[in-house]
Amino acid sequence: MGVRKGADAIGKRNTEVAKRAGKGFIPELRVYGDGDMAIFRFLTDEPLDVDFHEIRDTSISKYPIFTYCKKDEGDSDGYCENCDDNVPLRRMFMFWAWVDKILHPIPDEKGEWEKTTIGSRQMFAEDRNQVVLIKKKFGRGASIWNQFAEPYEMNGTWKDRPFTYKRSGGKNDINTSYTLMPLDKSAIPEHLIDIMGKLPSLEHVAKGEVERLPDFSIQAEGDEESQEETQTAKKATKSRPAKKSEDNDEPDVTVELPE
Ligand SMILES: [Zn+2]
Repeated sequence: MGVRKGADAIGKRNTEVAKRAGKGFIPELRVYGDGDMAIFRFLTDEPLDVDFHEIRDTSISKYPIFTYCKKDEGDSDGYCENCDDNVPLRRMFMFWAWVDKILHPIPDEKGEWEKTTIGSRQMFAEDRNQVVLIKKKFGRGASIWNQFAEPYEMNGTWKDRPFTYKRSGGKNDINTSYTLMPLDKSAIPEHLIDIMGKLPSLEHVAKGEVERLPDFSIQAEGDEESQEETQTAKKATKSRPAKKSEDNDEPDVTVELPE
């Protein structure tokens, strides 16, 4: 099956990879600073376990680009050009999640983050209220996955409580580690149940067939004044048309918004 190799095929693939590097419309769960901590909820009990090729090409992006391995895809006849080129494979897992806040140990420059006390520590809360993808490597000996699997083994679900996800280690610290901690059990808020019903399939996202989220960023923009989010959120979803990302003229999303 090596026939597709050659300048043309490689050129085509590079364009493909470059295109993908420029996207990233679906945000991921990330904590950047030492001691930063996300407060989030899982939105699914069915994570995806998937092989990606890790492409490192600094002429395209300074970050590695993960591309779905086509080997197991029905319509590619088991052919994957990245396998053919020996591009390293990474086993990864994916979840949908909802990030409430990111807590920081230090305030932001503008002073917009709200002071919060966590235990005995003072933190600064950056509101997020957004759907994100959790997309992580399994880690050595599946160490990262095991952290995520633990609460499910204990409780039979990931959805029955919020969690914290904390970073220990600064920007370029090679010993940076992350800790997942369950918080107290609490019912999943209704507006999240609403959102869960509208999430695209993780498999489509992994394959790059879905590159944007439908618009359910109900509280992410605007109405922070209301705590009765369920009512207003539902109304907002119905009356507001799907929002497009500002800065692109890409063809429309492959996701269909439920009416
Ligand atoms: Zn492959």
